Amino acid sequence: MTEGNEVIPHATIVIGDNKIVAITDSVPENATIIDGTGKWLIPGLIDMHVHNLADINFSENYPTKGATMFTDTDRFMLLYVANGVTTVLELSGRVEHFGQRNEIIRGTALGPRIALAMLIDGGTSGHSANTPEQGRQTVRIAKAQGYDFIKVYSHLSADTYYAIVDEADKLNMKVIGHIPDVFEKSNLHEAFVPNFQMVAHAEEFAKKAETFSEEEALEFARMAKKSGVWLTPTLTVMERMAQQTVSLDSVHYLKSFKYVHPLMQNKWITSNNNFKNTSPEKTARFNKLAEYNKVLVRAFNETGVPIVAGTDAGSSGVVWGFSLHDELELLVEAGLTNQEALVSATRLPAEWLGISDKIGTIESGNFADLVLLDANPLVDIKNARAIHGVFFNGNWLDREDIDTMLSNLAVWNTARKDEDKYQWENRRNY
Ligand SMILES: [Zn+2]
Repeated sequence: MTEGNEVIPHATIVIGDNKIVAITDSVPENATIIDGTGKWLIPGLIDMHVHNLADINFSENYPTKGATMFTDTDRFMLLYVANGVTTVLELSGRVEHFGQRNEIIRGTALGPRIALAMLIDGGTSGHSANTPEQGRQTVRIAKAQGYDFIKVYSHLSADTYYAIVDEADKLNMKVIGHIPDVFEKSNLHEAFVPNFQMVAHAEEFAKKAETFSEEEALEFARMAKKSGVWLTPTLTVMERMAQQTVSLDSVHYLKSFKYVHPLMQNKWITSNNNFKNTSPEKTARFNKLAEYNKVLVRAFNETGVPIVAGTDAGSSGVVWGFSLHDELELLVEAGLTNQEALVSATRLPAEWLGISDKIGTIESGNFADLVLLDANPLVDIKNARAIHGVFFNGNWLDREDIDTMLSNLAVWNTARKDEDKYQWENRRNY
């Protein structure tokens, strides 16, 4: 996945201290050998748009009260690891996510590397900012708390948005997010100021579209190209949303549904915002956005806007880890080559995150975040699912390990999913 993208045949990757020490054709003495004969090695995959489960309290608070609903880090993060996802960007970070990250780094839990963005929106909930000064102060707080990035959201005023993006620039924090609603098609170019570095969904453009034509998509693409902003299309979530306006079968019958935390299984079925108040008009609108998203991806790719893979995992029906493979397939369907799709989930996101000297390619000196595949993903992107084993954070899990862990997880979830505690409507009672 290096810039030249050449495949290295018959290579031996020497790993020491969790890093790639050398790419050679000889095996050092006393090495533990993982035989990759006839297989394909790719860098660990990166999902650039996730919402991770973490400990939370849904009920009334009182001093000294902690979480009331718990997420076991090992059990939750297995979904990523099992799918070869070794790095994620959390786009609505909370303090609990820092705890998870530390557990993983310390080695007391298995999981991916986690970059954290603080979400700032207008209004009154979460980290809200309704004036430029509040915006700047919230960014300073994010920096002080250790966040890596800022995520801007839909309800910010133009002035507050500009202040946030500028303050983040001063503090060396890249800004990713929605295009605030105040920017419509007519003044859209005004949203693209320096340090607004990534649009978090293709539908941020689709929602502004007037003609839904290829020409309009190219217009958006040229605007993005000119400002240097990148795109995370998140094709998967829009597709799932459209399906869920029709029926929840697409959630129920997901192969990976049994691996989802029992509380979220229940939420996605009993409190599904896409299915709630659904109508043929809603279905038609979502389908139109999903279809146009692909037109946008093709236009952005042709125009040379860097595209990175992200899923919005955590949204209903978008299962952590598993969904990245759906996204790769949709990116190819939209017009990316298999190779471009792989790059969008390896080298490019590493570059955007500013850690391309550590992850994203298989090169000496990088962390040994590696996925061994049984088949060539450059021939068919679906082959990225044919995971023989994953190496990350000094751990090697082979197919058998992964299958055992996944089946234990399914048993754990299934044993609990009917308990009162895991019914979404009861979440405030605990
Ligand atoms: Zn999201």
